[in-house]
Amino acid sequence: MHLTFTEMHTPTVGLQIAVDRQLYTEQSDFQRIDVFECEEFGRFLTLDGYMMLTERDEFIYHEMMVHVPLAVLGERVRRVLVIGGGDGGCVRELTRYDHIDRIDLVEIDERVVAVCQEYLPSVACKLTDPRVHLLYQDGLKYIRHVEDAYDLIIIDSTDPFGPGEGLFTMEFYGNCYKALKADGVLVNQHESPFYKGDAQACQRAHKNIVHSFELSRVYQAHIPTYPSGHWLFGFSSRGIHPVRDLKAGWWNSLGLETRYYNTNLHKGAFYLPNYVQKLLEKVEET
Ligand code: SAM
Repeated sequence: MHLTFTEMHTPTVGLQIAVDRQLYTEQSDFQRIDVFECEEFGRFLTLDGYMMLTERDEFIYHEMMVHVPLAVLGERVRRVLVIGGGDGGCVRELTRYDHIDRIDLVEIDERVVAVCQEYLPSVACKLTDPRVHLLYQDGLKYIRHVEDAYDLIIIDSTDPFGPGEGLFTMEFYGNCYKALKADGVLVNQHESPFYKGDAQACQRAHKNIVHSFELSRVYQAHIPTYPSGHWLFGFSSRGIHPVRDLKAGWWNSLGLETRYYNTNLHKGAFYLPNYVQKLLEKVEET
């Protein structure tokens, strides 16, 4: 008989997965950490019962978090900050760029890193790269004391409740602005626009970002195990444009093999459905 993992996405709609094995469970100082194994998605990590990643579809999320800003910023990216992201997926993609000198990963929960290194090695495999500096700290506190230091900041956080709540606030985004170099870029996971509760969280985050940066654009991807499958990301800067400043020729000349990202999809990802545009415009005007 199968165990079943269920995550409710609304009071009446949920994601259900037949689990073959539970590989790990722990209550850390910050959250409950579980790793399961199933037929369709391979191993998957949940925090407080919420899906973080699966072996089968994590490439979509991590490629879109990393290659979109890299293809815009190009060889200028020397120092990168990842906040959250203790699973190592963003770091794995970042380490594919030889010109990046330093990656600071600020993760609040040391146990997420340890558990992913043991149970999800295909994701956490590059956390030992010598360019990666692991700091076990609250990203909200870390960023307060940083100025003009990073070319790229990636916010790979949990959802806007629990330890991740502060990472969606105006104070935090304002501090990210200050921590970026003048021609730097912030990328964040921007929640889903589809179900009402998620759409409201997405609007709140967007409102705080557009008030903190001169330019903020939102892009999308299809991620099967996230609520509704329709996921958004934010791209913010002091003026660098995600499509006009795309260095498609440069990125393609690197010959990186990706499974989701390509430079045509990059452009298309910024063209949003009308209902999503409206949702975002509503808070841009307030
Ligand atoms: N891709 C995932 C998603 O959105 O479902 C996010 C994955 S990653 C595992 C999120 C990480 O953010 C977690 O490991 C969590 O511990 C970390 N985190 C949450 N709040 C944080 C904070 N305030 N500072 C640093 N890391 C934080």
